[in-house]
Amino acid sequence: MPMSHVFHRSSVKAPPAVSRGEGAYLYDQSGKAYLDGSGGAAVSCLGHGDAHVTEAIRAQLDQVAFAHTGFFTSPPAEALADRLVALAPGDLNRVYFVSGGSEAMEAALKLARQYHLERGEAGRSRIIARRQSYHGNTLGALATGGNAWRREPFAPLLMEVSHVAPCYAYRGQQEGESEAAYCDRLIAEIEDEIERVGPESVMAFVAEPVVGATLGAVPSVPGYFKRIREICDRHGILMILDEVMCGMGRTGTLFACEQDVVAPDILCVAKGLGAGYQPIGAMLCTEIMHEVIAQGSGFFQHGHTYVGHPVACAAAGAVLDRVVGDDLLGRVHPMGAVLRGMLEDRFGQHPHVGDIRGRGLFLGLELVQDRATKAPIDPARKIHAQVKAAAFAEGLICYPNGGTIDGKQGAHVLLAPPFILTEDQ
Ligand code: PLP
Repeated sequence: MPMSHVFHRSSVKAPPAVSRGEGAYLYDQSGKAYLDGSGGAAVSCLGHGDAHVTEAIRAQLDQVAFAHTGFFTSPPAEALADRLVALAPGDLNRVYFVSGGSEAMEAALKLARQYHLERGEAGRSRIIARRQSYHGNTLGALATGGNAWRREPFAPLLMEVSHVAPCYAYRGQQEGESEAAYCDRLIAEIEDEIERVGPESVMAFVAEPVVGATLGAVPSVPGYFKRIREICDRHGILMILDEVMCGMGRTGTLFACEQDVVAPDILCVAKGLGAGYQPIGAMLCTEIMHEVIAQGSGFFQHGHTYVGHPVACAAAGAVLDRVVGDDLLGRVHPMGAVLRGMLEDRFGQHPHVGDIRGRGLFLGLELVQDRATKAPIDPARKIHAQVKAAAFAEGLICYPNGGTIDGKQGAHVLLAPPFILTEDQ
């Protein structure tokens, strides 16, 4: 390959160039097919080349490609917001469109801060989030996340955040401890941290309902989020749920938090919203939050050039047609059960697979040195790369990753195939 001028993710080696996509497959320039078993990073929920979505993009381009939201709104943005609000849980009633997940999280953090400020609670700026979480790579989102490896080089640039334990039963639940007792212990840690920093200083609690990149499709134990909701309400703390990876149908319901029977004050989605056809994310907030700004400064002091991009919104509207209108969502639970069954059959007793978990078509396999001791695999980072390369050579795209376990890097393989996946694939 001639020298590339693209600043690739790896500065050592450029990846092969993709030439086309069709259904669950991507093809490189040599014609080699790759089954997109993780939708890249849980993005391509419709697979590739969906004619309905590409037609919607074309039709919008024929009307108008771009009009700055400082001057205009657009029919696709208005229509998409109406539909998301109708489908969203709780009182989420306003939608702020951005270009991806990190931007959605930055908007959420800044809205939370401005909301408290305009209500006269200027002391609220502290975020409580969880260790082994990922909320994006921009500085606010990176500070909020608890992925030690990603944070380390940039630590001097990051605001102070309280990180509590994630709900990660495979490693966190002690021997002989019931799920309820484990949940009690996690909740007590959150309450203690709120007391330690002072409830009146806390702005928001932030979490992924099903933890993606850092833990590998880990849902919480029953009741966990409902109890956090109750704590947040008691102390006037906002609950921000990050469904950038687990939302938009990935876990079998349009929003993952529906299965936890909880509604946040702010909900962030991205990836599956545009399904990779356009870069788009969204932050949904309650009417009360919007009203505080409307009655106060009248202006959310935030914004990017491509907020509410009409073509991105048109694409996301067409993705919703497919996911909800054509009920591809209805395939997620049954196909997820089939895939999980296959993984259990193949890897359930594998000496280096400690746990198989997830919800819907969002599944993770935790890699360990030894099933019995759960000792983290070592060196994890090298093994991520080996698994990824070996799968890729066989024509499978999967997403190995890992957070830090007791100071050591953990390893899992994340699977997030398209909702159109068939059993034989
Ligand atoms: N939040 C979660 C839970 C994510 O998984 C990601 C990306 O993987 C992000 C935020 C950041 O999204 P983006 O990469 O679109 O900025």
